Amino acid sequence: MRPSPFSYARPATLAEALQETARGAVPLAGGQSLIAAMRQRETSPAALVDLQHVDELAAELHWREHSLAIGARVTHATLLRDERVAATFPWLAQAVRALGDVQVRQRGTTVGNVCWADPRANMLVALSASDAVVVLQAPGQSGLQRIPIADFITGFRQTAAGTGIVLAIEVPRAAAVGAYLEFSRQRQDLALVNVCVVRQVGSARIVVGGLGERPVRLSHAETLLGARPLSAGLSANELDGLFDGLALDPPPDIYAPPRYRQQLARELLARTLKTLTEAAPHG
Ligand SMILES: Cc1cc2nc3c(=O)[nH]c(=O)nc-3n(C[C@H](O)[C@H](O)[C@H](O)COP(=O)(O)OP(=O)(O)OC[C@H]3O[C@@H](n4cnc5c(N)ncnc54)[C@H](O)[C@@H]3O)c2cc1C
Repeated sequence: MRPSPFSYARPATLAEALQETARGAVPLAGGQSLIAAMRQRETSPAALVDLQHVDELAAELHWREHSLAIGARVTHATLLRDERVAATFPWLAQAVRALGDVQVRQRGTTVGNVCWADPRANMLVALSASDAVVVLQAPGQSGLQRIPIADFITGFRQTAAGTGIVLAIEVPRAAAVGAYLEFSRQRQDLALVNVCVVRQVGSARIVVGGLGERPVRLSHAETLLGARPLSAGLSANELDGLFDGLALDPPPDIYAPPRYRQQLARELLARTLKTLTEAAPHG
């Protein structure tokens, strides 16, 4: 299907891009989600503003002392190419490796993946487990807003961006271990369920995609794991109990009923924890 008619602007500066978004234009990054949805008429924006030629939006990764900044024009392929990503954040490398195909990774951006706010999106789930922060520039405001990623996602494919443009996503660098796993019907599909666990001594973050309208945190499991050494996981009983009574509000697809998603989440979490505990030094 063809998209509904829309106007298209290709500014060279951030100020011009923000003028467009202030007038209601929707940001276009790699187009790997937005254009597909427009062709399906799932969304019909009247105006697009293409960010690809705005040099102020970084296309390279910036490694800082305490964080990694993923700029708005950084593609999945750029993330995958950087060996420091696999060394510092192996769970991000696992998530990006499982995303789409070469073409999608070449054009699609990590920021676009988060801004699309699909609760099964690989990078959204992995960055949520990384405690990442979204850096947003709103039109007409001189300062930047820094929004924790969990607060940035407000619903199924909804964010707190408003008419703003996300400049970057910042990932804190900490002495952490982590792993990402997903189950999809076939390679390149969005996951039915995906799980990312990031552990430090004394704390853990567990994020599951595909169970709710937004990625879901398993806070009880986080508390249990936070009190244990990195070499200890969760018992079978504890894993079963995590999902009892959990309110499920999965994305509207026809492929997996809630009960099946719950079973997938339990199994993926068990496997993720097994990988991490086996790799941890015992003592
Ligand atoms: C064949 C195929 C397979 C795929 N497989 C997967 C998969 O396995 N896992 C997965 O997670 N995804 C998958 N995707 C989806 C896709 O790869 C990502 O969601 C995509 O990378 C989004 O990035 P983009 O740059 O293309 O964003 P776009 O499609 O251009 O934009 C997505 C959304 O983000 C907004 N946006 C983008 N940049 C900004 C910004 N700087 N500030 C504010 N808003 C912004 C746009 O307005 C839009 O709402 C697949 C897509 C295809 C076509």
